[in-house]
Amino acid sequence: MLPFTYAAASDTAAALRLISASRDTAFIAGGTDLLQLLQEKVLAPRTVIDINGLPFRGVQREADTVRIGSLTRLSDVADDPTIRLDFPLLAQALRETASPQVRNMASVGGNLLQRTRCLYFRDATVPCNKREPGSGCPAQDGLNRINAIFGGSEHCIAAYPGDMAVALLALDAELVVQGETGERRMRLADFYRQPGDTPQLETTLEPGELITAILLPPNNAAEHSHYLKLRDRATFEWALVSVAVALEMHEQRIERARIVAGGVGTTPWRLSRVEEMLLGATLTADLARQAGDSAGTGAAPKAGNAFKVPMLQRAVERAVLNAGGLA
Ligand SMILES: Cc1cc2nc3c(=O)[nH]c(=O)nc-3n(C[C@H](O)[C@H](O)[C@H](O)COP(=O)(O)OP(=O)(O)OC[C@H]3O[C@@H](n4cnc5c(N)ncnc54)[C@H](O)[C@@H]3O)c2cc1C
Ligand code: SF4
Repeated sequence: MLPFTYAAASDTAAALRLISASRDTAFIAGGTDLLQLLQEKVLAPRTVIDINGLPFRGVQREADTVRIGSLTRLSDVADDPTIRLDFPLLAQALRETASPQVRNMASVGGNLLQRTRCLYFRDATVPCNKREPGSGCPAQDGLNRINAIFGGSEHCIAAYPGDMAVALLALDAELVVQGETGERRMRLADFYRQPGDTPQLETTLEPGELITAILLPPNNAAEHSHYLKLRDRATFEWALVSVAVALEMHEQRIERARIVAGGVGTTPWRLSRVEEMLLGATLTADLARQAGDSAGTGAAPKAGNAFKVPMLQRAVERAVLNAGGLA
């Protein structure tokens, strides 16, 4: 780890002032990802700004929306009674995240911004376009077992690794962000960027902006939702494939469907084709199988991760059956 200056922000204005004072600066919340990246010299900011003193904590109901402060720890969100009752999909995805120790430390804001697990990105001794633009992408023909099968480009095929954002996208969540010029809201669907020819740019967050909250609109999918995560070991591990399903059903008829996959896309990946197949149909085992089969449409796997296509297909089938109560 290279030396850096530590500064604790006493309020939001101070945090934004400190970050705008230098381009070579990083916020730290729980530190569970940032510190790893500093230790491995993947990042080397000159100043680290601790934002844990800012008032962005807790889960609150505001009219028909639920607001989660960006510094709320994953375990607190997973255990919150409102989240468990009205957004069980989110609670389930969080319980499947990392380990109890990490969940106690990690914030939801930091979770949204965790960096890819691509082996080359995390090894500062090898080229990587995301870490060092223009240096190359050894994952294309190298070790790509954990990389993306959707949304990649010739410049980068890194998979988005998180669980929470997959569930949040299925719940149509929004983010509140604050910069020096004020506050703005954006749909989570507009937050993550595909790599294209600028894989170093991962989100639409402007430099120096803080995430202050996640907003959850009301939904009628609580009874028919499911998060399924497939990984190499049962805990302490990112998804090879995950699927978040949120269905609104009248008896067995599907009136609204959100199906989002994790571990397979360069961003949390909405499976629109699957949604179209389910919408307006009566849920049966046959329909779930056909919907699962369609989940691989458009995939562009590499030699090391072709297994993710059938894994995703069967994960979608199982998650839809679970959500619909037919498992
Ligand atoms: C062993 C292990 C296993 C894991 N397994 C999983 C898993 O299965 N699923 C999963 O989803 N995650 C997993 N993780 C990742 C973990 O969930 C993230 O590291 C964590 O959520 C990041 O949150 P943090 O508060 O610690 O972020 P930090 O490390 O403090 O920050 C991460 C990034 O976010 C930025 N940041 C933080 N907060 C804000 C904010 N409010 N506004 C703007 N920028 C901000 C920081 O500058 C930094 O760039 C695992 C981590 C470990 C160590
Ligand atoms: S896939 Fe992306 S993160 Fe991985 S080596 Fe290629 S450019 Fe780097």
